[in-house]
Amino acid sequence: MKKNTLEEKLYTLKFDSDIYSHLKPDNEICKDCPEKICTTICPAHVYEWNESDNKLIVNFENCLECGACRIACPYRAIDWKYPKGTCGVTFKQS
Ligand code: SF4
Ligand code: SF4
Repeated sequence: MKKNTLEEKLYTLKFDSDIYSHLKPDNEICKDCPEKICTTICPAHVYEWNESDNKLIVNFENCLECGACRIACPYRAIDWKYPKGTCGVTFKQS
């Protein structure tokens, strides 16, 4: 039986986005962070480093709520909460 790729699995998810981010990295810490591991560890590519603005971009609408970024950040710089109410990701059975 064929296994779905990560991209195919992500395609089966449903998102209901809040207008406010539930992920709030401390940019003062992020600016000096040499690893920026959040930009590589997130399976949904939520974090992008914007070199010209010297700022972390957070595409929170795509968050899978897995918690990996909160655990992986070596500086505990992310104020991490679940999206409020019924917002966030819905995992559908396939
Ligand atoms: S790993 Fe942590 S401190 Fe570094 S850029 Fe990401 S959120 Fe900021
Ligand atoms: S909780 Fe998971 S999906 Fe959401 S931003 Fe962090 S690593 Fe990415």
